[in-house]
Amino acid sequence: MQIYTLIIFFIFGTVFGSFFNVVGLRLPEKSLFREQRSYCDSCHKQLGWRELIPIWSFVAQKGRCRECGGKISPLYPLIELVTGLLAAFTYYRYAWSQELLLGLLLIALIMPVTVADISSRKVPNQLLLFFSPVFIIYRGFCPLTPWWDSLLGAGTALVLLLLIFYLSHGGMGMGDVKYYTLFGFIFGLEQFFLLFLLSTVYGVIIGIIKMRVKGTGRKTKLAFAPFIGLAALTVFYFGPAIIQWYKQLF
Ligand SMILES: [Zn+2]
Repeated sequence: MQIYTLIIFFIFGTVFGSFFNVVGLRLPEKSLFREQRSYCDSCHKQLGWRELIPIWSFVAQKGRCRECGGKISPLYPLIELVTGLLAAFTYYRYAWSQELLLGLLLIALIMPVTVADISSRKVPNQLLLFFSPVFIIYRGFCPLTPWWDSLLGAGTALVLLLLIFYLSHGGMGMGDVKYYTLFGFIFGLEQFFLLFLLSTVYGVIIGIIKMRVKGTGRKTKLAFAPFIGLAALTVFYFGPAIIQWYKQLF
């Protein structure tokens, strides 16, 4: 394990994180390809290269735009930092292997979806449409589970989540249903159940903390895709170990 390789994975991760911010912010507004350069959200001034260095620009500018002094959302550097850490951790955990590729693909799906859901309460269809064939091709070459398990995972996810979708009367979005279904396909039935359970636990914990801190009511809608993504990453890194531990209890 080379420390330099880890650092390179981290740095590339933060650069990609910066790109995932742009994708996640602009896709729901359909302006990904219309606007060429990055700009300030408040004054729309185009950003120079010194303002585009991941994490560092935010810290150096103390979270404000150089031009208008408008606040920059801490979500941006946070996404860059988390993407960098995840990329480095994935390399640390799997070195050069098939799992490394799968891990990086998962990060590339999960980070922009997280940004999009937090900023516009949407899981962009374009991202799911882009990544579904990518994951189908990936599993064709290096399957995590037998093919029937992928279909069983996706089918169960779809039926279960559609049921929740109709029973919750809009409490859960259709984007979340499709997002879960894709993970059902990637991980298979057993790990999908773990993913579903974990996402619910994460959502409930953060929901309670948010209600305590902000005093907001039960009705405030929580962006749920970040919890699905976090659960998917937990399952990817630790799923088999958690399931094995659980089975040993009985
Ligand atoms: Zn500005």
